[in-house]
Amino acid sequence: METDTIAAISTTMGEAGIAVIRVSGPESIAIVDRLYKGKQPLDAVPTHTVHYGRILDPAEGKVLDEVLVTVMRAPRTFTREDVVEISCHGGMIPVQAVLEALLASEARLAEPGEFTKRAFLNGRIDLSQAEAVMDLIRSKTDRAARVAVNQAEGRLSRLIQRLRQEILESLAHLAVNVDYPEYDAEQLTGQKMLEKSRQVEQEIDHLLVTARQGKILREGIATVIVGRPNVGKSSLLNALAHENKAIVTDIPGTTRDVIEEYVNVRGIPLRLVDTAGIRETEDLVEKIGVERSHQALAEADLVLLLLNHAEELGEDDRKLLKLAREHTTIVIVNKTDLPSRLDLEEVTSLIGGLPLVTTSVKEEKGLDELEQAIADLFMEGRTQTADATYVSNTRHVHLLKEARKHVHDAIEGIESGMPLDMVEIDLKNAWESLGEIIGDAVAEDLIDQIFSQFCLGK
Ligand code: GDP
Ligand code: ZN
Repeated sequence: METDTIAAISTTMGEAGIAVIRVSGPESIAIVDRLYKGKQPLDAVPTHTVHYGRILDPAEGKVLDEVLVTVMRAPRTFTREDVVEISCHGGMIPVQAVLEALLASEARLAEPGEFTKRAFLNGRIDLSQAEAVMDLIRSKTDRAARVAVNQAEGRLSRLIQRLRQEILESLAHLAVNVDYPEYDAEQLTGQKMLEKSRQVEQEIDHLLVTARQGKILREGIATVIVGRPNVGKSSLLNALAHENKAIVTDIPGTTRDVIEEYVNVRGIPLRLVDTAGIRETEDLVEKIGVERSHQALAEADLVLLLLNHAEELGEDDRKLLKLAREHTTIVIVNKTDLPSRLDLEEVTSLIGGLPLVTTSVKEEKGLDELEQAIADLFMEGRTQTADATYVSNTRHVHLLKEARKHVHDAIEGIESGMPLDMVEIDLKNAWESLGEIIGDAVAEDLIDQIFSQFCLGK
């Protein structure tokens, strides 16, 4: 159990210039009291109340900042320790000065994630919730943030706990059977365990299906834009990003470096990569670009394949279309503002069932349709995602797969008439794998590793 008192700036400076310093630990109220000058000392105020006052430099008695101090006594706090939050108003320099003064008077600077770690260690939240707090801090879109909030509220935890309960009930049947072998219920026990195990397996499968969407929300859809030189790849990237980070040029083949950019398409984060056109070339510099394009295509979640409305379909286009059919691709016919030279019928016959959108990036036409096509592909029309439980953490996915394997072994064991005490081992393993998700029986070094990825002050 931690016994020292920690402090850190827990919000970054907003537009209003307010920053909050959070102090947590048994001495937090006493430490702040030594620096605080207000109507009454903080150790005399009721819990969960806010007080106006000044923070003074303990050595010189100089006023460091005017503050609002919130006093929250254990256990009804985030860390389940005594917590004091100091809202500073005077900008970054006074905030730093107040923090310095706290550190000079027995508070220790919190490590990244240490507040959340204490909340976990004191039983306030479980591990999956703590990890969700981290996802929340990092989330790139509102939708991703909502998923993290759901998880932080304990949705995933409750589901995992229920699955563990199911497994425990199976194990309980087994215990009865093993302890009273004369009570000839082997058949019945096996049947009950089979039912429960199949049910658990199904629910884990369902959770794993959500993992793909969870990953998308967390890390963004890795998207590559491919097409012949000059077809409008950089222009499209820029239009989607609403800023000019990629180089746009009239000279074919000049986008040589792979540039990454995050954009928010209807709440779905897209990680866009602009690539040199995929085509055979003798130019060495360009070849590096092309090779990287092939690689990017293989690693992409989404391929945006551009064709030029103003040119006939070329050999390169056909090659690209062939390649693209093996991936999740949206075909975009660009430059529709120019006279048509593209045989759209041929294109339609070549793309199979791939979605096709026509655009004029220059005249900003067709971009809405493109965004809708992306949303259709990745959210499968499901826009009401706020209530869903998503598994979005690779550690959780790994453990779920592990648990699923153990449950599956148990099912096969029962079906092939294995002795039930062998099956028992599989089910216990499944129970333990699930337990690791919520932090039951997790090794201390793993806990340290998880929390060290946090931002300071959380
Ligand atoms: P990239 O080589 O595929 O990246 O193509 P760029 O984005 O660099 O664009 C090549 C040229 O085509 C630039 O001059 C763009 O302004 C122009 N361009 C891009 N989209 C359109 C469009 O929809 N219509 C027209 N007329 N020109 C476009
Ligand atoms: Zn380009």
